[in-house]
Amino acid sequence: MSEVSTYQLLDGRACSEALKARIAEQAAAVKARRGHAPHLAAVLVGDDGASRTYVEAKVKACESVGFRSSLIRMAANTSQAELLAQVDALNGDSGLDGFIVQLPLPKHLDADAITLAIDPAKDVDGFHPVSIGNMVLGHEGFLPATPSGIVELLRHYQVPTAGRHCVVVGRSNIVGTPMSILMSRNAEPGNCTVTLAHSRTRDLAAITRQADILIVAIGKPEFIGADMVKEGAVVVDVGIHRIDDPGRKSGFRLVGDVRFDEVAPKCAWITPVPGGVGPMTIASLLLNTLRAANRA
Ligand code: NDP
Repeated sequence: MSEVSTYQLLDGRACSEALKARIAEQAAAVKARRGHAPHLAAVLVGDDGASRTYVEAKVKACESVGFRSSLIRMAANTSQAELLAQVDALNGDSGLDGFIVQLPLPKHLDADAITLAIDPAKDVDGFHPVSIGNMVLGHEGFLPATPSGIVELLRHYQVPTAGRHCVVVGRSNIVGTPMSILMSRNAEPGNCTVTLAHSRTRDLAAITRQADILIVAIGKPEFIGADMVKEGAVVVDVGIHRIDDPGRKSGFRLVGDVRFDEVAPKCAWITPVPGGVGPMTIASLLLNTLRAANRA
């Protein structure tokens, strides 16, 4: 008898649409109150294809919820001083609720110094040390978009988290580390016992197999296979990669850090790629911008 897999999708598209509908209602209320809609600006330095795609998706999402958006394109050879001057101008622009500087930046630019220059009141990406500090202390503030989008996704599908063992693989400042903090907070979703794994972790598979909730942000295509996942686990795949696929009209397909086809049948819940974490990241950015506008 063949086994019937019963996993459920953590559908980031559906969840983000529901979230965006609520954001659109509140954006209209902001506009009625103060005469202009929430306004997000994005700075794009250089012409990296993936970054351009992400920024354009963010601008389009703004339009879909009735926000105003501005896209500031700067040349790949922009100097640190020029970018800092741009950040300064945006900090001082009273017509703007929040802005982001799309990462990664070209290698000659110091991303940490740029992040530090952003006014925390406009830091809707949630990457500034003040935002990170507020998150760690459980204070009100902007949460980093990808981890908070994942929390919203778990909330939307009422995935139980309290008391569960959550393994986060990857410790970047923008995904893995803040994710581990949010999952261990005394909050719902949250209250997990968290293990944070990285490239120096010994016997990664032995650790991931203990995860009730496995969140993968490694940046390596299809790295996690079925042998690394416990039966009945919840798997969240943050990775996103273009893989050549001559069989497709586009010439490529998108995959995550997880081998979806072999892992999904073992799972209780799993995010697809695309259509999982990506749309939630954008919805969280909109939510942060709305929060900024509500303070104004
Ligand atoms: P980084 O490259 O900044 O971090 C990767 C992390 O994975 C590092 O902590 C690294 O460890 C760890 N790692 C690498 N190899 C291994 C390994 N073999 N075993 C265990 N850990 C390993 O990536 P990001 O966090 O910025 O992004 C991760 C992925 O998520 C990327 O594919 C990115 O494109 C995607 N992404 C998707 C988003 C979305 O909205 N869907 C948003 C943001 C990112 P160490 O610290 O030791 O080097």
